[in-house]
Amino acid sequence: MTERSDLEQLRHALQQWPPGLDWQPSADQQEALGQLYAELLRGNQRLNLTRITAPAEFLEKHLWDSLAGVLLSPACRQLAAAAVIDIGTGGGFPGFPIAMTWPQGKVTLLDSTRKKIAYLEELGYRLGLSNLNFVVDRAESLGQQLQHREHYDLATIRAVGEGAVCAEYGLPLLKVGGILILYRGQWSEEDGDRLAAVSQRLGGRVLETIPVETPWTQAQRHFVYVIKDTPTPADFPRAIGIPRQHPLMPPDAGQ
Ligand code: SAM
Repeated sequence: MTERSDLEQLRHALQQWPPGLDWQPSADQQEALGQLYAELLRGNQRLNLTRITAPAEFLEKHLWDSLAGVLLSPACRQLAAAAVIDIGTGGGFPGFPIAMTWPQGKVTLLDSTRKKIAYLEELGYRLGLSNLNFVVDRAESLGQQLQHREHYDLATIRAVGEGAVCAEYGLPLLKVGGILILYRGQWSEEDGDRLAAVSQRLGGRVLETIPVETPWTQAQRHFVYVIKDTPTPADFPRAIGIPRQHPLMPPDAGQ
């Protein structure tokens, strides 16, 4: 299959965006999302940005999934003009599609890999996006920096670590009232209980969990929304590497 016919397939599929998110891509957005796909295929030839390259998979796992996380929650939809941070953005997901659909928002793409962020910066420029910021750093370090700590209205995190790690990376970066979205595949009641207890230690509270089936392959997804109620204690996030090596436990687990 050639790159050109892959792009044509994606463009065709974008014209038939499924109902369910209460949002349809405009003609301009379809064009821009197609361009994002073409550019990522090109970038992938020199950098390992994403394993998801087939048009149908790209549409479902990168575009639809990225947008479903913010569009399915009424509380998040209100934050379209907000300061957003995508933690561990990798090849730019979910941050890039969010920036492209919410031009009034300011989206910071954070990753610890310099090469990926350098590429995304180039890509943002080529796509003419002016609402992106790019940061190369570790979430643990950023969460202790004055200009980033308690700065964001919305934080997204997908495929970066277990729930407790995501909470420790994300909650310190949020303003009080801000929302952290965990993009998950499987998610059990036990996962939810543990996240609720850990979030409490960080000033957060699980607002809701939305289970959903993807429209094309009926894969199970869960979007977990954690709202920040009070400032995160200064000890968090802990030093680089610690959140992943020793994920926070519920307070009664004796940590
Ligand atoms: N979010 C993207 C997605 O869902 O397609 C990429 C996920 S990729 C599996 C995880 C990314 O998180 C990698 O690009 C890695 O460099 C980044 N990462 C892991 N730990 C990090 C940390 N502590 N701070 C910042 N970035 C981190």
